[in-house]
Amino acid sequence: NELITFQRVDKTYEMTSALKNINFTINEKEFVVILGPSGAGKSTLLNLLGGLDQPSTGDIWVQGINIAEFNENELADYRAKKVGFIFQFYNLLPTLNALDNVNLVHQVNNSSLNGENILQKVGLAEKMRQYPSELSGGEQQRVSIARAIAKNAPILLCDEPTGALDTQTGKQIMKLLKSLNRQGKTVIVVTHNEEFSVLANKVIRLKDGEIESIESNLHPSEAD
Ligand code: ADP
Ligand code: ADP
Repeated sequence: NELITFQRVDKTYEMTSALKNINFTINEKEFVVILGPSGAGKSTLLNLLGGLDQPSTGDIWVQGINIAEFNENELADYRAKKVGFIFQFYNLLPTLNALDNVNLVHQVNNSSLNGENILQKVGLAEKMRQYPSELSGGEQQRVSIARAIAKNAPILLCDEPTGALDTQTGKQIMKLLKSLNRQGKTVIVVTHNEEFSVLANKVIRLKDGEIESIESNLHPSEAD
């Protein structure tokens, strides 16, 4: 049940080697946390996982297909079908209310999931008609998670999902991501927040563009 495998992946920008000989496997339904200090290569790795950029060399297998060989159109298709993105600053459209932000993804993606039900599930039943500016940071992050659920992609890719939130609200968001994982989503969190490791089946530590360690079979769950 391998979902994603990186093989000898390097990424170089001009003079900078951002990732060096990266090798790891992510299994279906795992909760993976990628940790590392600033400059370690986390954003670069996130961009490769999300099909937002391509490696300089090496292979990235997703469900048996090497996306490192994809052209721009194939990558766009991969992003649209396989990956739900959850970012630090939510990326909600300010002119749409919560429900419309979620439903927009439906229309684009032809998903049959119901936006109202999803917002209910993430605890926003009462606030569906409010605009992002009328919601707290934690609520906006819930909308962005609801939008990723609506997309119904197998991979949830989260970039510092609690980075803009206070500790308490961050914990609620972590719980919500864990419950999505229990429901069968593969969740990948890129962060410098060590607290995420308590939720993880696998922790990948990056340092100076290299893998420092991989710990797996942590907190075994559905993935094992
Ligand atoms: P992190 O997200 O862990 O802070 P990054 O992936 O952003 O790390 O950066 C890894 C290294 O690659 C850093 O040395 C950074 O300066 C460099 N880097 C990242 N993006 C670019 C870019 N677009 N052009 C040049 N260098 C970059
Ligand atoms: P950082 O982790 O350095 O704070 P961001 O979280 O803003 O940076 O973004 C991480 C990466 O994800 C960036 O390289 C950016 O191109 C990409 N990204 C950010 N927002 C989106 C989005 N809504 N859709 C697709 N890609 C995005």
